[in-house]
Amino acid sequence: MCGIFGIEDQADAATFTYLGLYALQHRGQESSGIVSWDGEALRVRRGMGQIADVFDEGTLARLAGRRALGHTRYSTSGTSVLDNAQPIVANTSMGSLALVHNGNLVNAVSERRRLESGGSIFQTSSDTEVILHLMARNPRRDLVESLLVALQRVRGAYSLILLTPGGLIAARDPHGFRPLVLGALADGGVCFASESCAFDLLGARLVREIEPGEVVVARGGELESYRMSQLREPARCLFELVYFARPDSTVFGESVSQARLAMGAQLAREAPADADVVVPVPDSGLFSALGYARESGLPLEFGLIRNHYVGRTFIEPKQAIRHFGVKVKLNPVRQLIAGQRVVLVDDSIVRGTTSPKIVKMVRDGGAREVHVRISCPPTAWPCYYGIDMPTRQELVAANNSVEEIRGFIDADSLAYLSLEGLSQSLPSGQGGHCTACWSGSYPEPVTGADRRQAELFPQLKEVEP
Ligand code: SF4
Repeated sequence: MCGIFGIEDQADAATFTYLGLYALQHRGQESSGIVSWDGEALRVRRGMGQIADVFDEGTLARLAGRRALGHTRYSTSGTSVLDNAQPIVANTSMGSLALVHNGNLVNAVSERRRLESGGSIFQTSSDTEVILHLMARNPRRDLVESLLVALQRVRGAYSLILLTPGGLIAARDPHGFRPLVLGALADGGVCFASESCAFDLLGARLVREIEPGEVVVARGGELESYRMSQLREPARCLFELVYFARPDSTVFGESVSQARLAMGAQLAREAPADADVVVPVPDSGLFSALGYARESGLPLEFGLIRNHYVGRTFIEPKQAIRHFGVKVKLNPVRQLIAGQRVVLVDDSIVRGTTSPKIVKMVRDGGAREVHVRISCPPTAWPCYYGIDMPTRQELVAANNSVEEIRGFIDADSLAYLSLEGLSQSLPSGQGGHCTACWSGSYPEPVTGADRRQAELFPQLKEVEP
């Protein structure tokens, strides 16, 4: 759960990066950072908080150069402190490098232990630093070769962008868990981003996805593509399309809004409800609710209003804030739901702590019945590939039947979209997705000490200033 952006051969590259990160802010809000290359040295600014908190005009002006790289972070691995803010920078025998990473490596613990026993000293508790150490340990004349050798040792989810004195390098793991897209600016600049919505803000054109297992080098206006030697089945994260990506983005070659509309329509076919109105849980339930309403013929009403000045509770890291956030972020519109039988459409139920409060909110708003419909299957397995999810014990669907969850959230009925229905909802019809958090079938095994990234540094207790 991070947003990454890089730009090459463009005047005011840092300002473009700032804008790109602004569009990707939904992917992480704990820390932000930008690195630029001014032709002689890396210039770096990282800070805790959202992109607009960390950067101002003066800072951006000092990040000189035509090549820049940025990151907006949510910590799924490593602690939430400034040391772990990205880009990570390093001086190596191959020159100065900066790296941004979206995803989680599933063998970071074992690789780190191996590197430490060989003398490596780590500066952060982030899994990303492992990649830089592996590159530094295997220097080649050619940086791309160094990267390819390093990536042979890591497993798991990584969409990466590296800034080097010679250009930008983008890489995506052989499964392609996390998205990464290539864009082109009208005057010849090249950019990489987690999602295409970053390009829209800049007037850049979406060219294509970086393919799973592909490394793309941008030098000046030129692009070169390389392939990793390791072959894996594609396993693009389907949860990006259900919940995480912005609906105005194209990721994995799919329009996110069209995918969500189709999920809602399929949900209406699979789980119709005897009701009067369809109400989305904003914002992530909006498009699937619209799809449900169109398919069912029921009117769509905005019966819940979201306060946009509160962060999304799902990605707030502290439990206390999460509980508080539910109350402050939603409010019912009594005039639209009083006396109505409501179909309440949401994207997922994870811990099950939020849904009972929303159902109660709709009932308190006067709804006569509340029928909850979820646009993905029950989330019963944790994610090890970079989406923040609780342990299996904390996932309500891991330990309860659908009927038990219905009782727990106090809905009149509850239904989930089937896994088959979800897969059929993708407009492109292409397969090759990860569905592990619903099916328990993990495309990249996670074993032993690597099983929980939280175990990474049990003896390191960080204290924020
Ligand atoms: S386990 Fe779920 S959230 Fe994680 S990558 Fe797979 S589909 Fe995405």
